[in-house]
Formats: sequence, C-alpha cells, structure tokens
Amino acid sequence: MRAFAVNPANGQAGLEVIEEPGPPSGGQLLLRTLEVGVCGTDREIAGQHYGTPPPGEDRLVIGHEALAEVIDVGPDVRDLQIGDLVVPSVRRPCPHASCSACQAGRQDFCYTGDFTERGIKELNGFMAERIVEDQRYLTPVPAQLRDVGVLVEPLTIAEKALAQIWQVQQRLPWACSIHGEGLPAQGCTALVLGAGPVGILGAMALVESGFHTFVYSREPEGGPRSQLIESFGGVYVSAESVTVDQLPARLNGIDVVYEATGASKLSFDVLAQLGVNGVFVFTGVPGRKHLAEIEAGTLMRNLVLKNQVLFGTVNADAQAFVSAVQRLERMVERWPNVVQLLIAKRWPLDDTARLLSDPPPGVKHVVTLAG
Ligand SMILES: [Zn+2]
Ligand SMILES: [Zn+2]
Repeated sequence: MRAFAVNPANGQAGLEVIEEPGPPSGGQLLLRTLEVGVCGTDREIAGQHYGTPPPGEDRLVIGHEALAEVIDVGPDVRDLQIGDLVVPSVRRPCPHASCSACQAGRQDFCYTGDFTERGIKELNGFMAERIVEDQRYLTPVPAQLRDVGVLVEPLTIAEKALAQIWQVQQRLPWACSIHGEGLPAQGCTALVLGAGPVGILGAMALVESGFHTFVYSREPEGGPRSQLIESFGGVYVSAESVTVDQLPARLNGIDVVYEATGASKLSFDVLAQLGVNGVFVFTGVPGRKHLAEIEAGTLMRNLVLKNQVLFGTVNADAQAFVSAVQRLERMVERWPNVVQLLIAKRWPLDDTARLLSDPPPGVKHVVTLAG
C-alpha cells in the first residue's frame, strides 16, 4: 500500500510502498484512511526542524490529522463496528510507571517527555492507505461529518484550551455563566492572535461558546480571511489599522487571549494589554533562540494586581476529541457553508510533497487517500 514518508535527517520526502498492516488483534481496528489534513507541524518535519522516525528506521510516515473508516475489528473491540467513521488521537503514553499523567490516560500532560506521537515522534502517522489503531485512541465521528471530520484533530487544540479556561474562570462565578443557562462565555471578550487554521478554528469555538470574539492579524481588513471570520460572527482587526496599544479600547477590554501565531514579541506585547482577571493561552511554538525585549515590570505588575493567569497548552486528551466532534456538529448546523470553506482544497496523495514545500493559500489543505 502507499504512504508518504519523510527522512528527517536529510529532508527527503516522498511516496513509498510499505507493508500492509496485519489483521487487527485484541482491541485493535483496521482502518481505511479517508483524509489527512496537512499543517505546520508536517512542514516542520519535512524541513528537518522536528520529527523522529520509529526506532531503527530512517523514515517517518507523516500525518496526524486523520479521518478514517473502520474496515475490520479485533475480537475485543467494543462500541465500534465496520463502516464507522473515526478520528485517531496523536499522542501515546510514555512507558514509565512513575508518570502519573500517562498512567491516568492524560499523556497530553506527560511529565517525562518519553511519550510517542503518531506521524511526529517515533510512531508512523496516518498518511498511509490503511492503518491499525487501538480502540482507546479512536473517537467516533457521525456520518454527517464525513466532509469535515478531518478538522476534528486541529479543533482539539481549542477544546483543551477552552476546558482549562473554564476551570480557571470558575474563580469568577459571577462573570461566566459556566453552570448557568445560555452560553458559558456570554458577555466576555476573547482576542485571537493569528488567522491561520489554529486561530480560525479557535475563533469559531470561542464564538460558539458565546465570547465576543476578535481576531488580530497582519492582513488588511476586507480580505478573504477577514470575510471568513466575519461570516461566523467574529470581528477581524488588522494590525495595519489598530496597534497593540489600541486593542483594549477597540475591544472594550480583553478577558481571554488565545494566541495562535508562535510570535513571541507580539504575544508578550498583547499580554501587557490583558484585562483584569484575564486569561492568556499560548498555543504557538516559536523558534528557540528568539530574543525579544519585553516590559517585564509591567507584565509582572499586571499578573499580580489584575489576577491574571497565563498557561500554555499542547496536544489534547480523549475528552477534547469528543468535545471537538460535538462542537463540529454544532458549527456545521450553525454555519454550514463556512465550515466547508475551511477546507480550501482536497489533493491526491501524489501531491503531498507540494503541499509541504509550497503551501497554497487557504485555511486547510487535505490529502484524500480513499473515495
Ligand atoms: Zn496538525
Ligand atoms: Zn508520561
């Protein structure tokens, strides 16, 4: 069967013919890969910045944003059957009994760093015609989401972040109606930094949660990204027309910042504008050796005097996958055409190399492996 693999040591990337996975045993399922989304992580692997092949191999099959169909089930599989659609998660637990996070099924909070990740770190990914996966790592997707289910994995970043935002903001029971009627974030304002796939999916999840949501990015107002954001009720603010210092006045205060750029200087400049009792969420990964001047005194003063919380978030747990599926269902119901528009184009497996080296414009590009 065909697969797309990268040699992270020399950057060579291409289609390969690899061995078919064997029949599923125990709680495993054999899956036919339908679609795989391509993102910045895949490009970083192809660009030799990231990525580790399985032990003893020199090539890594990439792909971690997949939608697949069950074509065979092992004898111990419960709750899933042939024909079901599923999305696999990415991270697998580390082997250490001392890692209480992995032992609890929360490898997204692994302490040791010895976790593995499909398509990224020491495990082959999903850019292959057929894959085998354990039922523990699969989330079912309703058939109505066949067209957009490939967005579930990138949406889990926002779901894990939102779950933590609610945990933090339970300290403000009078502000967010977490346990009450209506949308949890009614009356709160969120600012998303960046209008890439993570930023746009995050913005949709924030709007859907009731936040008055603004997206701040470089492109001028009125462009395609700005129109897309407005089509789901977000407000686009261009860095060309509003400076970081002007943001609090433009937004009438900032309760939550959802950072999705990896731009360190911009992020800390915006952190200085975060409001009273605000939360700042980092999701982007900047380059290692980036020195930036920041107003450390102001930031620390604000953190204390304004009860601010900042946290970083990576990967996602099983509940975030379930939440992402439910969110996507509501998003499709509310903005059917918009969700479709997030997938700019579908490409055959043969075009994967081009998507990695020369990404075309559009929010999300998807490789189609099977009809
Ligand atoms: Zn990704
Ligand atoms: Zn661990």
